[in-house]
Amino acid sequence: MKRRRLATDVLVVGNGGAGLRAAVEAVERGCEVIVASKIGADRPNSTAVIAGWGAYCRPEDVEGYFGAVVEEGNYLSDQELAWSYASEVAERMPELRRFGVEMRLEECTLERPGTAREMWYFPGPRGRLGDAIRAPLREAAEKMGAGMLSGTFINRLLTSGSSVVGATAVDLATGDLVVIAAKTVILATGGASGVYARQNNPAGTTGDGYALAYRAGAELVDMEFDTFMMSHEELKALFDGSGDEEKMLKTAGAHYSCGGVRVDLNRRSAVEGLYAAGEVTGGSFGSARLGGSAVGDIMVSGRLAGASAAEAAAGRDETSPDEEQIREEEEKLARILDKGGEGMPPSALRDEVRRVMWRKVGPVRRDAGLREGIEELGALRSRMTEVGARGPREMRDAVETELMLEVGEVIATAALERRESRGTHWRLDYREPNNDEWLKNIVIARGPDGGPVVRTAPARMTRITSPGPCRVGGAWAGGYV
Ligand SMILES: Cc1cc2nc3c(=O)[nH]c(=O)nc-3n(C[C@H](O)[C@H](O)[C@H](O)COP(=O)(O)OP(=O)(O)OC[C@H]3O[C@@H](n4cnc5c(N)ncnc54)[C@H](O)[C@@H]3O)c2cc1C
Repeated sequence: MKRRRLATDVLVVGNGGAGLRAAVEAVERGCEVIVASKIGADRPNSTAVIAGWGAYCRPEDVEGYFGAVVEEGNYLSDQELAWSYASEVAERMPELRRFGVEMRLEECTLERPGTAREMWYFPGPRGRLGDAIRAPLREAAEKMGAGMLSGTFINRLLTSGSSVVGATAVDLATGDLVVIAAKTVILATGGASGVYARQNNPAGTTGDGYALAYRAGAELVDMEFDTFMMSHEELKALFDGSGDEEKMLKTAGAHYSCGGVRVDLNRRSAVEGLYAAGEVTGGSFGSARLGGSAVGDIMVSGRLAGASAAEAAAGRDETSPDEEQIREEEEKLARILDKGGEGMPPSALRDEVRRVMWRKVGPVRRDAGLREGIEELGALRSRMTEVGARGPREMRDAVETELMLEVGEVIATAALERRESRGTHWRLDYREPNNDEWLKNIVIARGPDGGPVVRTAPARMTRITSPGPCRVGGAWAGGYV
């Protein structure tokens, strides 16, 4: 494999709304920035395909909006993160006009039946409404001098001691290994809905960022809370036993990952030099999120991660990634390439992972199924050694699959641990929310043997100190916003 080396102050991984907003912030603060993304600028990511709605919060109603976020999350939000989100979103959304984004206020009726909420609407061509946000932000970032590396698949974060110092990547056009030394790294890689067989996100939403962060030593929080699309009637039928599970598994689909990388108010992870923004983060929304808040959050957390990563980069010397880690990665990729067409096609293994995740860890969750799921994922993981790739794109598929196995195990472990139903987590063997035992978050880190180490932490209820009624389900009525 040919090697190329690059160096920058801030490396942003992902060119969705969160990554672009972070990049703009970091260049505005005088940093050299590279935005690396495995998809090209014109290919859809989740930001590109939004239903068109973004959170609106009146500046004088931060408290009310914050209360709605926490209530929707069934009191599992980290309330300081949720406050940071709510108190900034009022300013961050209209600010988009500064970049030339077209938007207007409209009543959104797609949430809970009978409710309407005023939100920002981004007009544009059907199916690509989010380009109204993405294109101007990208243009602004480029004009200010951010370097755009499209078709560049980040496959590992490089560490030195307890800090992140860059990443390795595969150039999907040439197959070269790209080593990017960076003073700080911002993960903005989007959600993990693509670990399931059925979902509505664009291809490539495979949860890479969760696994990259986890492998580098970061913690993941609330990973059991994946949003599945299902009407309130279907969910009710599933819970009262009158619904047909098989039929439902053929129609539902994954939509959004509420959990993710555990970050502080600066959107810094537990690992020095590693920041996260957008859907890949967890904590703000607890067990379910309000419509429009994903778009609100990519702007708020994008700006915050960009600002704090820039500030930290200014105080750090040039980094020099560890040769041994780079060689390890190179050898792994070379082994996959050596097998070539003789090996198992990565897409075959990936389909199996998605099938297990959907049937055992998806919308229908029970103790026995989740345990089987974890076991089956383990068996699939041992088959990774059989996978071969005939070129850089299949190599990406192979590594994506390996990362999906890691994320899948974490989701399944968290879902098994939470013995109640709440928000987007549906346990048919524990059908009710249980505030006596489960007003806590599940936090997972990678143990020394590579397996998940689980701990629980009391929900951070710093502002609303006693919970109201909790729900199973979310604020959607069929329009997933
Ligand atoms: C159909 C649909 C409709 C939606 N509608 C709404 C809505 O109306 N309102 C709302 O608030 N939310 C909506 N959402 C949710 C919202 O779109 C997402 O949560 C949000 O856009 C995520 O933005 P992001 O920047 O975090 O990630 P993304 O926009 O997903 O961008 C992540 C980027 O990271 C890149 N990447 C990932 N892994 C790697 C890697 N290993 N190496 C390099 N690059 C990588 C990807 O290529 C991608 O470009 C919708 C989601 C979907 C799927």
